[in-house]
Amino acid sequence: MAFVCPACQEARVEYLGGTDDAKSRLRCSWCEHEWTHGGEQPAPKSGVLTYEQAKASFAGASSVSPQAAARVDRLKAMFLTDHPRPDPKQRRTGTAISSSSAQRAYRQRRRVT
Ligand SMILES: [Zn+2]
Repeated sequence: MAFVCPACQEARVEYLGGTDDAKSRLRCSWCEHEWTHGGEQPAPKSGVLTYEQAKASFAGASSVSPQAAARVDRLKAMFLTDHPRPDPKQRRTGTAISSSSAQRAYRQRRRVT
């Protein structure tokens, strides 16, 4: 098992000896930080969430502050005032910039440099 110094993350760790409660005294030979290792260790998390935990971890409307939600509502109303109907060109291509105008912009940029 490779040890890493908790202070500086260096892997240059010296074993200084055992303690009475079966722990190991370790010292970093880089920064000289000393610590004990062993004894009771917290159980590692499994890393697998239950369905309920995963569902609760998703962001939802309740995770947005009331101020931010009010701003989103204002901006959405402004956008829908300016764009009452979807742009048929954007629906067809699926992008805001058509490929021919992107190619034209690329050619212009190459000419400058
Ligand atoms: Zn260290």
